Amino acid sequence: MGKAVGSERLGSLYSGGKVRRRREWRGLGDTLYDYSRWLKIMLMLLKFMSKPANIKGFFRYRWMLNYLAVPMMIDRHTVGLRGNHLRIAHEEYDLVAEDVALLLTNAFRADKHCGNDREFSKKIVVLDENEMFAIMCGFPNLKSVSWETAAVYVSVLLRGHAVHHYLDVVQEMGLPGDVCPMPAAEAGVVIDDDMPVFGACAVQCNTTCDGSLLGNGILARRYEQEGIPVFQIAAPLRHTEEGVQEYAAQEIRNAIKFIEDCTGEKWSWEAYFENIKRFNEETRHRVGWMEMSRTDYPQVFGANLALYSETTYMAIAGRVPAFVEADRRITKLAEESFRRKEMLVPEYRHRAIIWGVQSQFYTDFLPWLQNCWGILPLVDMLSLVYLDQLSEDDPEQAIYDIARLYEEMIMRNRTHGGYEVLLDDLWRYCEEYNADMVILWEHIGCKALNGMHGMFEERAREHGIKLIWVNHDLMDMRVVPKQNLRDDVNRYMRSVLREEPLDPSLEVIDDAQSW
Ligand code: SF4
Repeated sequence: MGKAVGSERLGSLYSGGKVRRRREWRGLGDTLYDYSRWLKIMLMLLKFMSKPANIKGFFRYRWMLNYLAVPMMIDRHTVGLRGNHLRIAHEEYDLVAEDVALLLTNAFRADKHCGNDREFSKKIVVLDENEMFAIMCGFPNLKSVSWETAAVYVSVLLRGHAVHHYLDVVQEMGLPGDVCPMPAAEAGVVIDDDMPVFGACAVQCNTTCDGSLLGNGILARRYEQEGIPVFQIAAPLRHTEEGVQEYAAQEIRNAIKFIEDCTGEKWSWEAYFENIKRFNEETRHRVGWMEMSRTDYPQVFGANLALYSETTYMAIAGRVPAFVEADRRITKLAEESFRRKEMLVPEYRHRAIIWGVQSQFYTDFLPWLQNCWGILPLVDMLSLVYLDQLSEDDPEQAIYDIARLYEEMIMRNRTHGGYEVLLDDLWRYCEEYNADMVILWEHIGCKALNGMHGMFEERAREHGIKLIWVNHDLMDMRVVPKQNLRDDVNRYMRSVLREEPLDPSLEVIDDAQSW
């Protein structure tokens, strides 16, 4: 118990209840720093609750209860960290929490059930949770808000049980239980009349799979009942083929025209390029962190890379200067630690690529991997998105760039585009990152990936890579509880590799009820 990395048996923190037995002791300096950030989050929550529309929203929507778990969620993702690594994690999670608070504030101010500010509502475009917000970079006077992100995506991140009620609701209406819980939960929120109602229009995207299309259909019907017109971007699935790019670009032109018609605003190239310069800088920082992960001293990886990248790449897209400022601070901290050869756990035993669709109810599984078994989750499939620099001055090229972002957005870029991007690329990354292991998330409700099981096994054998399957059901932890995910790894490590854990107290922990 102290300042040094690995000085504490982390399993002793769990009590079996909703919250931990106690806070982690990290030595005086780090404990004080961590506690001050915890207090800052509590103050942010209090400030959020000082707005009347937010209080109404809190009591109107069942999913808002999950937001009580924000401090606990950050604790789960910073477990075991010290020094610069603790600071990097707080830079990321605290900023994401602030951004979500702003999202909720905007949603409740405009929502007809809460603030009902109609003029403000006319300035909002509603977007999907799985959609590139780059489409809004050229509309400086409009806001883009995704209520799905707040009600479903973030809620499950905060509390594993968050959307069980909505899954029950949608299944009572006849939806089969094997549909992916993400679109199913979104549809459940709408059917349960728990969707905030606001916006001049909505822009959806054909994401990745039949489940997602089903969900979008139900949402679109509800938007139209409320007089909110909907545009559905049909981005091509065979995104690696040149022949589809002109069609993809035309979809973007049509979507921009739709937003202009619905809001009376004009697309501004000046605003777009200003945002894209920041987006490009964000990408350069991320690429830099990933470069470090190819060496023996990775600094920004695992959940810290995955969750923050998803936010900056998809939802921020250069529109919020605070994110690029945080990126600069993170890079500075990471470079400092890299020079000092600092490690996140006392021993690095395996270098792993994380592939497949992550379990949303257990994103802190990645810190668990490093703390319990010394397995480094170097880089994940969802962070390996489009990493090229976008045009900063050519409007014609820029349309193709936005189309490319849509085609290659998170999940979509690997679950579609052929086996080259899903299967072949994996072994290329193993080589690039000098990885000896692949942790393969097997989301049992994801039809897009499940058919390839045997091919992954065959190719792992050919490449001499240790392959561990981790089964989960994305947002429904009643189907596969958290301990089952850990046991998938425990079993492999003990019976196949004959290894002992770095921290045996974490092998079996009672966190089934924890926030
Ligand atoms: S996880 Fe799979 S099934 Fe679920 S939305 Fe994504 S692609 Fe579709």
